[in-house]
Amino acid sequence: MIGILGGTFDPVHFGHLRPALELLEGLPLDELRLLPCGVPPHRDAPAVSAAHRRAMLERAIDGQPGFRIDTRELDRPGPSYMVDTLASLREELGAACPIALILGMDAFLGLPTWHRWERIPQLAHLLVMERPGARLPEDGPLAALVQTGRADAAQALRESPSGRILTWSVTQLDISATRIRALVADGRSVRYLLPAAVNDYIHEHGLYAEPRGFVGMAGRNVSR
Ligand code: ATP
Repeated sequence: MIGILGGTFDPVHFGHLRPALELLEGLPLDELRLLPCGVPPHRDAPAVSAAHRRAMLERAIDGQPGFRIDTRELDRPGPSYMVDTLASLREELGAACPIALILGMDAFLGLPTWHRWERIPQLAHLLVMERPGARLPEDGPLAALVQTGRADAAQALRESPSGRILTWSVTQLDISATRIRALVADGRSVRYLLPAAVNDYIHEHGLYAEPRGFVGMAGRNVSR
């Protein structure tokens, strides 16, 4: 089973990497692909180039077996719709391969705003990272999906290529790329929020040094 963690990774940080590792080992997954977004459909353009975001990911995962970077959204022009990405992954991996799209609970609850969202569970399982005790919705547009797809163990996801929903508790790290960018722009340290090699890269290349105006919580509100 392949896990897909999409994001802007502007920059990648421990809030991405630690949960990803827990899913890789816990499910377990055969492979976890970090999939940087090319052109986010419904949010500001990334602060740094695709080449920098990719280079930081490469440094971050260096030496970690099971992690790899999937650059298909960077290589494709136009908005990076997840439904197109999953269709292209499905073509690459074949109809039978279980694919698990990894989402935070917040992202899962926002799924109905994504482009052609109803197609997404036909292409992949949904692996929802939850806070202990957080519950999947019992009403609203996602209720039917939860009712028919809910799985209570990872094994269920291995038995079909797509369509199941599994929640998984991961270590909660309240780290965001928005905050990291703001700290760097403010001349403050981001050490211990992300891998040392990424911190070095940011400073070597002078990334995020310029403030880009205020980006509040809305900056995290991604619709794919
Ligand atoms: P930004 O602050 O720029 O919006 P971000 O820190 O939220 O960025 P993204 O690259 O947009 O990072 O996130 C990629 C994926 O990782 C999303 O599904 C997001 O929900 C998840 N994610 C980001 N930060 C965390 C975190 N601290 N803990 C768990 N999941 C996270």
